[in-house]
Order: sequence, then C-alpha cells, then structure tokens
Amino acid sequence: MAAPKGRLELVEAEGNAGRQGSSGVEVVFPSDPATPAPLCPHGPTLLFVKVNQGKEETRRFYACSACRDRKDCNFFQWEDEKLSEARLAAREAHNRRCQPPLSRTQCVERYLKFIELPLSQRKFCQRCQQLLLPDDWEKHGEHPVVGDISITQLKRPSQLLYPLENKKTNAQYLFADRSCQFLVDLLSTLGFGRVLCVGTPRLHELIRLKASGDKKSNIKSLLLDIDFRYSQFYMEDSFCHYNMFNHHFFDGKAALEVCRTFLQEDKGEGVIMVTDPPFGGLVEPLAITFKKLIALWKEGQSQDNSHKELPIFWIFPYFFESRICQFFPSFCMLDYQVDYDNHALYKHGKTGRKQSPVRIFTNIPPNKIILPIEEGYRFCPLCQRYVSLENQHCEHCNSCTSKDGRKWNHCFLCKKCVKPSWIHCSICNHCALPDHSCEGPKDGCFVCGELDHKRSTCPNISTSKKVNKAVRKQKQRKSNKMKMETTKGQSMNHTSVTRKKKRKERAHQYPCS
Ligand code: SAH
Ligand code: ZN
Ligand code: ZN
Ligand code: ZN
Ligand code: ZN
Repeated sequence: MAAPKGRLELVEAEGNAGRQGSSGVEVVFPSDPATPAPLCPHGPTLLFVKVNQGKEETRRFYACSACRDRKDCNFFQWEDEKLSEARLAAREAHNRRCQPPLSRTQCVERYLKFIELPLSQRKFCQRCQQLLLPDDWEKHGEHPVVGDISITQLKRPSQLLYPLENKKTNAQYLFADRSCQFLVDLLSTLGFGRVLCVGTPRLHELIRLKASGDKKSNIKSLLLDIDFRYSQFYMEDSFCHYNMFNHHFFDGKAALEVCRTFLQEDKGEGVIMVTDPPFGGLVEPLAITFKKLIALWKEGQSQDNSHKELPIFWIFPYFFESRICQFFPSFCMLDYQVDYDNHALYKHGKTGRKQSPVRIFTNIPPNKIILPIEEGYRFCPLCQRYVSLENQHCEHCNSCTSKDGRKWNHCFLCKKCVKPSWIHCSICNHCALPDHSCEGPKDGCFVCGELDHKRSTCPNISTSKKVNKAVRKQKQRKSNKMKMETTKGQSMNHTSVTRKKKRKERAHQYPCS
C-alpha cells in the first residue's frame, strides 16, 4: 500500500489539521507503547496518524521525526506492518550507511591536526563543507576550496558553513548579530554560567567567542544540533550530534553522558537551556524532548531543590503561544522580536522591515528581563515587564495586549484587544479581517468549537480518543455543513482556503494579518 502523500505537511500549522474540509497528519504518543518505535537513520521514528475527512478508521504509521520531506528521509512503516528478517537487516544496513562517515572522535582528531597546520595549509572545501587536511587536497582538487582559514574563522563556523535552508528539515535561520548579542548579554546579566544550546549554533559560537575574549564573561556552552557539519569545529564536550524531535544522540551513550554532566555540573546550578527549533516542527515532540532534558537536569538536583525549574528560553513564533504554554504553563512570552540574518522576512532592515513574529518563551520572571530601550522597548509598571513601544497598556484588559508589536485595539463586544486590521463582524459575532468570509472555515477547535484552542489540544478529550472522536465530529460537521449549504443554495470552497494557508506556513511566511 502506498504511503500517505505529503505526510507531514499539514501537521503543525496547528490549527490546520483541525479545520473543516481538510485532512491532516498528527503525531500520536501512545501512553503505553506496546512496541518500541522502529529506527530510521535519525533515531526512533514517531507514530503518526492520518486524519482523513469522512473516514472513521485511521491507520497509524511510523515516519522520520526529523525530516518533514520524504526526499530527506523516506522511512515509512505501517504500525501493524510485519517486516521480514531480510527487510529488517536491509534497513539496519541502510541506517548504518546513512551515519556520518567520521566518528565524533575522528572529527576531533582531525580538528586538532588542522589547527596545528600553518595558515597557508588550512583549507576548507565549500562544496563538501569540510575542513581539509593535506591528505584530502587531491580529492577536492576540482572543488571550490578556500585557503588561509584563520583561527578567528574556525571560531565562527556559522559564517564559514552555508546555512542549510531546506525548509522541511534543517530550516537553519541564523540570528542577526543584534539579536545574538542581545541574547548573550542577557544570559550574562542573568548570571548564567552554562548554556545548553539546542539548535542554536550561532549563539553557541558567540558565547564561546565572548568567553575566550574577555575574562569577565566565562560562560560555557554545549551545542546539541542535527547539523553534523558542526562536529568538525568542536571537541566532544562542546558539541553533540543530536535530534531534538526524539531526544536521540547519534553518538550514543557517551554523548548522552556529555549532556548529563553539563546539565548536572554544580548540582545543576547556573545552567539554562536555549532552543530555537525549526518552526515547521511539531510542538509536542519538542515539548516531550525538553521535558526529558529537564528530567536529566533534575536528576542532579538535591531533594530540597525539587520545586526548582530548569531555566529555559524557547525561541518560537508568537502564534504558538497557547500551544507552548499548554505544555509549559509557567512560560510567558516576551515582547522581544528575534531577528534573523538569512531570513528574507524577519531580517532587520532600515526600511520596510516586516516585524519578526519570533519571540522568546521563558520561565524566568519577565520583570528580570530588560529589553533594550534603544530598540524601542519600554517597561510597563502595571504588567511588570518590558514591552514594545507600540504595545499599549489596555485598561480594560489590564494588560499590554499586543502580540505582534503593533498597537492593538480593544473591542468591547469581544471584550478583548484585537489586531488593528480587524473589525467587529456582526454576522460572525467576533472580530476578523474586513474581507473575511463569514461562512468561511472557523479556526476553532474541531471537537468543542471553542476558538482558543485546536482539536489536538482540546482539554475535553483524552489523547487516545482524540483522533477517532475528531474524525467522527468532522464527519458530522461535514454533513451539517452540507445541509447548510443546500439550504443556502451556495457552495464554498473550503479546501482552497485551507490549502492556500498551508502553502504559506510551509514557506515559513506566517500570515501576519
Ligand atoms: N537561530 C539559531 C539557529 C536556529 S535554526 C542560531 O542562529 O544559532 C534551527 C537549528 O536547529 C539549525 O541549527 C538546525 O540545524 C537545527 N535543527 C533542525 N532540525 C533539528 C533536529 N531535528 N534536531 C536538532 N537540531 C535540529
Ligand atoms: Zn570537496
Ligand atoms: Zn501593561
Ligand atoms: Zn469584536
Ligand atoms: Zn475543544
């Protein structure tokens, strides 16, 4: 049987999976997995379910946790599929073949040799994205090779390597200097001595640069990232090849121990985790992974510290706020807008910059986090936090309500603040864009109809029941809708709306209406 097409494309747009007239794929986490998930080259796979309109039975399948494009990893297996010994052996061989050609230790050995070379012999192959030792030169003879790689360059691998921009797997969007500096200064002001960088290679290198540059700041950093190219530049204790969607360490137990030691040093004091996952990724597997890292840190805590939380910065777009807070209720979202270098949309520019929708979610009290006045942030004494200049305190909501950096307006009918571009629609009975279609698909929960959450996060059902119930509901809605449509004598093209939205999300261009 053929695998569902475009399996993960529809997933985490969060809402989209639950929208009328759409089908989607969701991750399921069986509370008591009968069998361990099969392995792909990126570690344990995740169990997905295709939610199909009008179909009661949904067959579950395993697919790669890290790659949302089958071109990058085509692992596929039905949950109930039995594989022959031969196929299992072939899969194992394939998984082995897909591992990086060099072990972590070999990388370190090469690095140590490389820095011993005189400047004129230090070369880097741009095609292979690899530091070359003299023995390798011939093999890369026809490739574009840059020479004279200085120690300074070695310390800034994120500038030497090209960013992996394939949207569905790596989505490597590097911090603009301004944002990266802000983060490093903030971490140092808050007094952290160690930073666990999960998917933040540029932050990692800036922390280390500062630590080696000035004696005052001596913050240590450990990078966990799936981008193996970084292993050429770091020793074992500062980089682990890691998959944050399944908490998989590619180099096994030794790497896990590096991470454990790092988190538990000083009885776990003074450490923070900073993560900037690909935005197309699923929130739930990420949350599960972060909870595992938290547990690893907790192991090293003394009993009387058991109420303490591991400080975290989770960098993610603002429209994931409710989703993130569902998994981490103690988190709040800061107003600071995180800017990127190689992101066409979220780049800071003098003119016409589209405001970045990316924010910092954290369990550190926001009144401790000073946002730069010179970049247009101010302190709101009522909210006890720094906010964007435009984010005005609403006396009716008693809060600085804007999420996107623009001034929001209070709607007395909705009893809340809404985006400036929205107007109150008397047909829909809530605020929306002026050109919205009143009969259009609602963004609300598929199960109970509430607008503030989605089916996948509905508090009214347990995880195990979610899918079938949702599908049933979907069916029911569909028939209701059809009834409605016949009475009104008009038809609507829901799917095209949904698809258009999906395309936007895929291209990382979040609708900022
Ligand atoms: N803004 C950050 C980079 C964020 S881009 C900085 O400048 O430091 C997302 C990062 O997550 C990339 O480095 C990418 O390689 C990494 N990544 C993507 N998928 C991952 C996965 N499954 N596991 C671990 N890291 C991943
Ligand atoms: Zn080469
Ligand atoms: Zn306020
Ligand atoms: Zn309104
Ligand atoms: Zn609900």
